[in-house]
Amino acid sequence: MASHLPIVQFEDKIMKTVEDNAVVVIIGETGSGKSTQLSQMLHRRGYTKSGIIAVTQPRRVAAVSVARRVAQELGVTLGEEVGYAIRFEDRTSDLTRIKYLTDGVLLRECLSNPELNQYSVIILDEAHERSLNTDILMGLVKRLVKMRASKLKVLITSATLDGEKVSEFFSDCPVLNVPGKLYPVEILYSEERPKSYIESSFRTAMDIHVREPEGDVLIFMTGQDDIDKLVSKLEDRVQSLEEGSCMDAIILPLHGSLPPELQVRVFSPPPPNCRRFIVATNIAETSLTVDGVVYVIDSGYVKQRQYNPSTGMYSLDIVPISKVQANQRAGRAGRTRPGKCYRLYSSEVYQEELLDVTVPEIQRSSLAGSVLYLKSLDLPDIDILKFDFLDPPSFESLEDALKQLYLIDAIDDTGLITSVGQTMAELPLEPSLSRTLMEANENGCLSQALTVAAMLSAETTLLAGQSSKSNEKKRKHPPPDLPDGSGYGDHVQLLQIFEQWDQNEFDIGWCKDKGLQVRGMMFVKDVRRQLSQLMQKIAKGSLNVRTIERYKERQRDYKNLRKALCVGYANKLAERMVQHNGYRTIGFKPQLVQVHPSSTLKTDEDGMFPNYVVYHELIATSRPFMRNVCAVEMPWVNPILKKLEKLNIDKLSGGSGHSIREESETKVSSLPKKEEAVTGVPDDR
Ligand code: ADP
Repeated sequence: MASHLPIVQFEDKIMKTVEDNAVVVIIGETGSGKSTQLSQMLHRRGYTKSGIIAVTQPRRVAAVSVARRVAQELGVTLGEEVGYAIRFEDRTSDLTRIKYLTDGVLLRECLSNPELNQYSVIILDEAHERSLNTDILMGLVKRLVKMRASKLKVLITSATLDGEKVSEFFSDCPVLNVPGKLYPVEILYSEERPKSYIESSFRTAMDIHVREPEGDVLIFMTGQDDIDKLVSKLEDRVQSLEEGSCMDAIILPLHGSLPPELQVRVFSPPPPNCRRFIVATNIAETSLTVDGVVYVIDSGYVKQRQYNPSTGMYSLDIVPISKVQANQRAGRAGRTRPGKCYRLYSSEVYQEELLDVTVPEIQRSSLAGSVLYLKSLDLPDIDILKFDFLDPPSFESLEDALKQLYLIDAIDDTGLITSVGQTMAELPLEPSLSRTLMEANENGCLSQALTVAAMLSAETTLLAGQSSKSNEKKRKHPPPDLPDGSGYGDHVQLLQIFEQWDQNEFDIGWCKDKGLQVRGMMFVKDVRRQLSQLMQKIAKGSLNVRTIERYKERQRDYKNLRKALCVGYANKLAERMVQHNGYRTIGFKPQLVQVHPSSTLKTDEDGMFPNYVVYHELIATSRPFMRNVCAVEMPWVNPILKKLEKLNIDKLSGGSGHSIREESETKVSSLPKKEEAVTGVPDDR
């Protein structure tokens, strides 16, 4: 079925190298068959007799899509011999021998089984994406290889990775290059950056449609909003074309939040005499290979989430892609025959402005979750601050992570993980939400907190409508009969929405009437059930059973829930600044911030604004905004202020702070410059 794929021609060589070595790096062009074929080769050679083959993917969508494909190729039912596991969705069974899973899920599995004994082979796929979790896995797997000696095989695969660097990291392991058969791609540059890359992509796409011979067009946009706009523009124009003036056309969006049944449409070939326009995020760069593409339109931008450890602020920026990404995008045009790539920027921009490689996620993310994770592994020979990273994070972001963890009681003032922290690490949630659940269990509102955690985990798909812009609008003006949080903010509103749905017996029609996305709400219900089970398991009998009873305890001021949120989000606290009509964050570097306009908490009604709030995240768009805020009270804030006063960073980092500063500061790459700020989420991690 897949014998034409380049990697299949190298089966013997790859298998011989794997047999002789514990770790092998495999570099092969996107679409050469790494994700779908390597696991099957290993299966054919008997590696599934002694254990399961794990294949990690940084993206949820890719894990699901590739597992589906491999099950199809092997003619088995998905979830049986071939399965997948992504956060909150496990489609594997006792029969599973090939398991696709996100890198985050594999990290979590290390907690309960540090030696990952169930696996005979671990393939870290898409390593070039340099996701934070894959980077951490590389460090852990390196250690594991030594411990499990000849019993574990590790394959690191990538489209563009610097093979030598990874090989060095793994004690000079062999690097195999699988030559792809890419046809030449003609690169056409624009003279200058267009004012609107959506408009310019639209015009270029229509030019191709009218002038160029058959072949699909792949257009790289930055996110769902752009994609929706461009898809509707293209649809309007294609429909208005005179019949017979050019071939038929189908327009297909492709991004991480698309329902799976719509995602797979890109894998079906078009009907005869029909051109497909696939409008995609960078998910089509290397994660999903769309066959039949001959023309690529490259906007030259990507949406990237960036964390600034000195302000604790995330920004979701549209930034120029790197040269490596530009080349990957162009390569998509040459898979079936010679193609063309239209770059909506000049060759000078390519040469002089684009960074050579993308900045790894570890150097642009908050590390609180990862540091807590590594501390919870309690590896005697691993000093977290000197963990063996392929590219180390900055000292500043490690320091930031320690401070955050200290404020929410996950580590003590000497940097040691606490029992609270140990339990937090077992929950598949970010540290603040885990801490909230634990506190809620103590103070009698676990049921409510579980709902809030589940609602926050599914927030991007919660409100009906395709575009996140329209979601923002809807949140700003919820239908009058949707709950409004009773003046306590967004977390309470999320709780009230779910409770109303519950009171309406989880009726699908109710969701539709309220403008809530049915799929999103069903997901929330399922996540809530899973979290509740996990809490029962983790708490091992110490769960506050009284509180798990549904909504018996009705507090009109949601005091216990808000108090639990205050403890969980002690590192994300802000106080009212009346003269600025906003807030000032409390913590290491105070910032003036505003409540995000999408919030249900309105600060402009006289006397209605709370003096203190906690927020889910700080996001810099046109100004710094707090997203998802909850009103908290002075007496709960005081202990946090006391902790802050006592904080001593040298003690927290085990007294080794300065030596780390010297070591890692030199290695941090410069971040791409900020172009334009937007709201929303980057593609599906
Ligand atoms: P690589 O990992 O080297 O990028 P893949 O193994 O992902 O390559 O892809 C190999 C081939 O399998 C490509 O032609 C791709 O289009 C096809 N393919 C991958 N996933 C699917 C799927 N879910 N449905 C149909 N074809 C797929």
